[in-house]
Amino acid sequence: MNKRVLAFGCHPDDIEFMATGTLALLAERGYEIHLATMTGGEVGSPTLSREAIRAKRLGEAADSARVLNGVYHYAGGCDLEVEYNSFYRKAATKIIREVNPEIVLTQPPMDYLVDHELTSRLVQNAAYIASVPLYECGTAAPPTSRAPYLYYWNSVGLKDAFGRPLPMHFGVDISAVMGVKGKMLACHESQREWLAAMGGTHI
Ligand SMILES: [Zn+2]
Repeated sequence: MNKRVLAFGCHPDDIEFMATGTLALLAERGYEIHLATMTGGEVGSPTLSREAIRAKRLGEAADSARVLNGVYHYAGGCDLEVEYNSFYRKAATKIIREVNPEIVLTQPPMDYLVDHELTSRLVQNAAYIASVPLYECGTAAPPTSRAPYLYYWNSVGLKDAFGRPLPMHFGVDISAVMGVKGKMLACHESQREWLAAMGGTHI
């Protein structure tokens, strides 16, 4: 068993809000930790330019991954522009081939932001097609030998697009690692100002 886990979110900080407790528990059990985001969080500032906030947020995401001795991967997409298309499919599949994880965690299929939903769909598909030998995605890494175990974290607000609670198959008790989660969230320092400007709603 390869004991690698890949959390694949849409924006820098999505993983920290929704899945870093689980990642910390897996790290304690000897898993190698990888975090990836589809976008660089290019709209996440009320004051900085897109380029400046992207650079800052990619740095923050890498700092956060290092808390778990993990590696951060940026898929190359743009905030609020995620599409279910060839560019994003290849980008997601490339990361999955290069990490070759046993477990993948990603956004749920329904959430308040379409960027999140499309990331979910892209990662779901990439988890499978990374193993298809003739699918080309621009990496020298070989096709994966099997599809990883795929888990969705819950939506923000724990509800689907109609306001109904999403079905939850199980929960993970992360109370023992809340300190680690807090430390990883704190790496996203640029988002404090943005959260305040957006009235507390993160993207
Ligand atoms: Zn987000």
